[in-house]
Amino acid sequence: MERPNLGFAVSYLDPERLQEQLTEWSSAGFGAIETDYPPLLENPIRVLESWSSVIRDAGITVWSVHAPYGGAYNLSHPDKRQRRRAVEIHKVVLERSHILGAQVLVIHPSADSSHKSSAPSLLNESLEELLPLAQDLKIVLAVENMLPDSWGENPAELSRLIAGFLSPWIRLCFDTGHAHIAGNATLWLETVLESVATYHLADNEGTHDLHLQPGYGTVPWHQLAPLLQEASFPLIIEAIPWGKRPLKRVREEVEALLTGRVATTAIAGTQGYIKCRSCGSLLIEAEPGAFSCSCL
Ligand SMILES: [Zn+2]
Repeated sequence: MERPNLGFAVSYLDPERLQEQLTEWSSAGFGAIETDYPPLLENPIRVLESWSSVIRDAGITVWSVHAPYGGAYNLSHPDKRQRRRAVEIHKVVLERSHILGAQVLVIHPSADSSHKSSAPSLLNESLEELLPLAQDLKIVLAVENMLPDSWGENPAELSRLIAGFLSPWIRLCFDTGHAHIAGNATLWLETVLESVATYHLADNEGTHDLHLQPGYGTVPWHQLAPLLQEASFPLIIEAIPWGKRPLKRVREEVEALLTGRVATTAIAGTQGYIKCRSCGSLLIEAEPGAFSCSCL
């Protein structure tokens, strides 16, 4: 299988140590990142413009930006004024994402499940207002599937909703961790694959959104891998490095996981990944027939 194009979700682009961060990501082999939105609102436009060239010179692409979530940022807020404000804040984030060269803005369909019946039409209204700007800036609005405590947990339902726009600028962000908790991640991804514009790759044990590194929970990566391999864009890992390992090891392990190079065993019909008895890392096939962990 081809080597997947992997990216990493970073919580904060730090103006004080941006160069250091860029070196860390590029030396780990990541060519793309997703950043959370706060630094885009906490710095003047001229600073974002200067970052844009520094980031590009480091060979990194800001693939996506994670938009604000919850409360005042709820795009399906039942209160009209609050919802309009949320939409206008998203416009500011869109404009600033454009300065950093982002191609995708990950947005959230709701903040809770208290208005399930009205949320779809309210989200529709917000998307109608955001779409012209997204289209002008050539940024895809990627609606993320949520955890079961918020409306929007069903990616198939979101996919049907966005299909109504007939626009390539409104698509899905498929979060593997959320889907694993809310339902069957594999079946859902098979159903919505054509609508997906970006991913959040994260693992968990099917109950809490732990943001484990892929391979350290129970997400069925062996089933998802062929579907993920179809992506023509960077796959964003939104997870905490297992055991605080260096990012390079994270990239290598996820790459191995998605290309069938993690050591597995089958006992009485049950398949499992093999982990090192000393360091707890997945054993990956670095070279044909040569396996490595974090301590070897
Ligand atoms: Zn080891």
